[in-house]
Amino acid sequence: MHSFEMKMLPWNVVFGVGEIARLAERLESLGLSRALVLSTPEQRGDAERIGDLLGARCAGLYDQARMHVPTAIAQAAAARARELACDCTVSIGGGSTTGLGKAIALECDLPLVAIPTTYAGSEMTCIWGMTEQGRKRTGRDLRVLPKLTIYDPELTIGLPPAIAGPSGMNALAQATINAMDERTNPVIRSMALEAIRAIKKGLPTVMETPNDLEARGDLLFGASLAGAALGAGVTSLHHRLCHTLGGTYDTAHAETHTVLLPYSVAHAAPAVPGLVARIADALGADSAAGGIHDLSSSLGLPTRLAELGVDDSEIDRIADIALETDVVNPQPVTRAGVIELLRAAATGKRPT
Ligand code: NAD
Repeated sequence: MHSFEMKMLPWNVVFGVGEIARLAERLESLGLSRALVLSTPEQRGDAERIGDLLGARCAGLYDQARMHVPTAIAQAAAARARELACDCTVSIGGGSTTGLGKAIALECDLPLVAIPTTYAGSEMTCIWGMTEQGRKRTGRDLRVLPKLTIYDPELTIGLPPAIAGPSGMNALAQATINAMDERTNPVIRSMALEAIRAIKKGLPTVMETPNDLEARGDLLFGASLAGAALGAGVTSLHHRLCHTLGGTYDTAHAETHTVLLPYSVAHAAPAVPGLVARIADALGADSAAGGIHDLSSSLGLPTRLAELGVDDSEIDRIADIALETDVVNPQPVTRAGVIELLRAAATGKRPT
């Protein structure tokens, strides 16, 4: 018998092939007329296309979004938005660009319209993150939740397998962590399990046949559900370790999730055997941690700490930084347990 309380987020989402064409109309219906379009330098071309679609509703472009949202970049972008008297930002890109829009929302209360082109899922959460002097701070604030998210699977066709693979695993991490935590409610866990099924179905095909729009749609749907599970759900030791590695060693975010996820799941599994069995079932695997490891190995993705550029000799220091403040996790967290988890990640072997 279920017994739970539920509070979801005020999501506003459109999902469909070709949806981007209606962008200007969507902004108009939200009463927004002066957008600062955000992108990374690599996606400047995409930002220009969004500017063209917006026409007079585009006040300017800012193309300096960067992984982990350095505070200086967030402040420079916010200053640009103020200078141009913008009434919103429109982000086109992955979690880094969405994250910049969120930082601006936090700094100047500007609504964000997010157009995701990776599988990070940030657009479905009210979690912001910013990095300064080697430390990544994160928090939850409803002001950073996009006023609108437009998912158009066609925009992900150009995402190369080398980025799509780890990004899909990042989505899998958001879903898995929330499927195996008793602090979430059964609705979130159902979304998370459905996300795992959609990612397992879509990701291998996307890696093999990047132009397969159907598979792109499956994977983007899975990523959206995974992001929603994270947004309404929880983070735990896994995210703490990812943020420690990202903030302190500037590791690539999605690859960090990819490497750590099987070991985070193996660490938590003895505390939540029933929930972990459901994840294994959704993956069609004999164990959740093993199935996740099999998926990333079969796709040729990184499985070892060293592949993130982190030397095994750093393990004690990583554990110390990660445990500077308390972290809630299905399996109670001890320094010895974290070191064991990281040592397993250093081997890259399939968790038993
Ligand atoms: P990213 O946004 O840095 O993108 C990686 C690269 O791929 C960039 O160069 C980007 O321009 C490029 N790219 C994106 N879409 C493309 C496309 N369709 N075609 C070609 N190139 C494309 O990487 P990410 O993994 O999406 O995001 C990582 C960041 O997101 C981290 O800072 C992480 O902390 C944050 N994040 C936040 C949350 C949250 O809830 N707050 C959730 C997940 C991730």
